[in-house]
Amino acid sequence: MKSRARTIGAAAALLLFAGTRGALAQPVPTTVDGLIGAAKNAAGLEWPGTFLRLCIPPPAAPAPATTTGARGGARGTPPAPPARETWYGEPAKVADNLYFLGTKIHNAWAIVGNGGIIILEALFDYAAQDEIFGGMRKLNLDSRKVKYVILSHAHADHDGGARLLQDEIPGVHLVYGAADWDAVDKSTNHAGGKPKRDMVGTDGMKISVGDASVQIVTMPGHTPGTLSFLFEVRDNGKPLRIAYVGGTAIPFNADAAYYDGYIASSKKMAKAAADFGATALMSNHTEFDNGFFKAHTAANRKPGEANPFDAGAAAVARYFAVVQDCTTAARIRATGK
Ligand SMILES: [Zn+2]
Repeated sequence: MKSRARTIGAAAALLLFAGTRGALAQPVPTTVDGLIGAAKNAAGLEWPGTFLRLCIPPPAAPAPATTTGARGGARGTPPAPPARETWYGEPAKVADNLYFLGTKIHNAWAIVGNGGIIILEALFDYAAQDEIFGGMRKLNLDSRKVKYVILSHAHADHDGGARLLQDEIPGVHLVYGAADWDAVDKSTNHAGGKPKRDMVGTDGMKISVGDASVQIVTMPGHTPGTLSFLFEVRDNGKPLRIAYVGGTAIPFNADAAYYDGYIASSKKMAKAAADFGATALMSNHTEFDNGFFKAHTAANRKPGEANPFDAGAAAVARYFAVVQDCTTAARIRATGK
């Protein structure tokens, strides 16, 4: 593919790039082409999917687009779920107490502490039973120990299974950002059933299950209530610090205030990730973090091999440079400045 060739071509430039924006002598570019070039260099070999999604607007569609991630046909007719073989993915043990429970396309995770389990994301409604409950069974995790299910945002590809998890796990708490709880409450055709209002995730909140915890970073942008996360797991007994971005895709026809808000959130999360010492960057779409493939590579590696998610702090910083440069380019395209 042309895009792949371009990405690989950028690897040489990466050697000069030295990893972070701060290491660059040049200022941030101010043209669309300059920003896209900078984003491509920053993407390197780690973040090509994020670059393609955010920097390359899709061709104009003849039919009106549906909401990002939404499932549902015209006039509220729910479409049939896609064939299972198109989405079902095996679960995988990623680190000592971190597990992948996603599909081939969307990521969900279990973080295990000595006081219970935290689930991140609930997938599409049709996938939650097989991937989350089925995956936990395959991995010998007891779903009755799940204390919290944290939803990054209220889109059907990540929260369609929320009601199922709320109904099936006694005493579990569902966590959304405040504005996304409001969106859930207002929804009239929530895929998978409307979850009942529960915990609001706030900036800086630490959600713990004994010796494992997730710290919330509010990140309005992809949705007004998007939540991102910082957490540490153990990998072969050593700590692995992870920055998890809960919302990524942008519209290409928004106003300046939207893009400025989104970029401010990305800068906030980039700083939080750096301050936390994150050396891994994860998200909720394989498209953005190669999560499905990395999870299985992690599970199948030989003793002593590094975790494939452990890309290093510089690569984590480059992820945020990609996002911010592409979004600045989108703002210039959409608003002229
Ligand atoms: Zn979304």
